[in-house]
Amino acid sequence: MNIRLEHITKEFKAISIPRSKGDTGESRQKNVVAVKDLSLEIAEGELVCLLGPSGCGKSTTLSMVAGLERPTSGEIYFGDTPMTGIEAEGRDIGMVFQNYALYPHMTVRENIMFPLKMRRASRDERNERVEAMASMLQLKELLRRKPGQLSGGQQQRVAIARALVKQPQILLLDEPFSNLDARLRIELREDIRALQKRLGITTIFVTHDQEEAMSISDRILLLNAGVLQQYATPQEMYRHPANRFTAGFLGNPPINFLPCWYENGRVKVLDVPDWTLPSDLIQPSSQNIRGEALLGIRPEDLVVQAPGCCPARVAAMQPLGKEVYLKLEAGPYTLTACLSWDHDYQVGDLLPLSVKRLHLFPLEEAEGGGAGEA
Ligand code: ADP
Ligand code: MG
Repeated sequence: MNIRLEHITKEFKAISIPRSKGDTGESRQKNVVAVKDLSLEIAEGELVCLLGPSGCGKSTTLSMVAGLERPTSGEIYFGDTPMTGIEAEGRDIGMVFQNYALYPHMTVRENIMFPLKMRRASRDERNERVEAMASMLQLKELLRRKPGQLSGGQQQRVAIARALVKQPQILLLDEPFSNLDARLRIELREDIRALQKRLGITTIFVTHDQEEAMSISDRILLLNAGVLQQYATPQEMYRHPANRFTAGFLGNPPINFLPCWYENGRVKVLDVPDWTLPSDLIQPSSQNIRGEALLGIRPEDLVVQAPGCCPARVAAMQPLGKEVYLKLEAGPYTLTACLSWDHDYQVGDLLPLSVKRLHLFPLEEAEGGGAGEA
């Protein structure tokens, strides 16, 4: 089932409780626009991550798709059917939240079976579906246990099984793995991706973790302050960030930003006399910028290469095995470079640097970042 959002806005009305005489309660009277004019389409069978910092409107968007919140304006379609007026129960979705509320007094089998029971499925059908889900999610050995006897990762597998047992058309997950430790998170995200592909179920996955989003998504939708920043494949978003917010949000260690002047096909970094970069490195999306701008260089796009166009001094080093992160000083700026560790760098070395690719952004960006393509 494909999903379409058309000009969705969600505004929460503030409730004003005057605390004392003279308190106008102005700050509490402010309405919150959690999602602003959001339009997007998710194709059948796609896995899309809603990504963005805390409070940017991810859960609100998901809740509207689920039917738990009503948009202030705009329309959501499943296929060609507008969803206004269709309650959550009628939407044919499976949901998994961060706090997997399993029923503690029921066994794993009963937990997974619960939605089918509600639907009054036959005993044979119930058993068959529970078995199928259990083998898909490696829960067969655990069916007789109670949630209290399971690890966090196992509990979350049960929650996923329970969400999928009704064979819904759409799967919605809201930060499902954020309570788990790093290794389990990686394991489970690989599992959910494999399962999602196998079932071909249209899926929206909410996360604030850029690496999680990059590793499982067909496409990522990046939000900031309720405004869409970019909607693209992970690779496209990383290589061609639509704006400064996107460039800064994706990437670890983060992209280096330097104020610059762009003219006559050359990029001059301000306050560093030696740093002049040829513009043939600029990504096509930045071509229409002139004059004062912001230069973005990813840490892995800095390379040591004589003669180099940008000398910088090593201020600190962080070896990571096959790679080394260098803190570099150039004029008043500190940059991070991520280099392969095949050379003995020393603090104080003056390195001849070249840049493999660079990004240019306007110095001023609209509030919440400029919206990218829809
Ligand atoms: P995220 O999931 O990206 O962290 P949310 O969608 O939960 O963000 O919240 C987006 C914004 O809407 C936040 O400013 C939050 O405080 C506000 N908000 C969310 N739910 C409500 C609500 N029920 N009433 C008022 N404000 C809300
Ligand atoms: Mg949230």
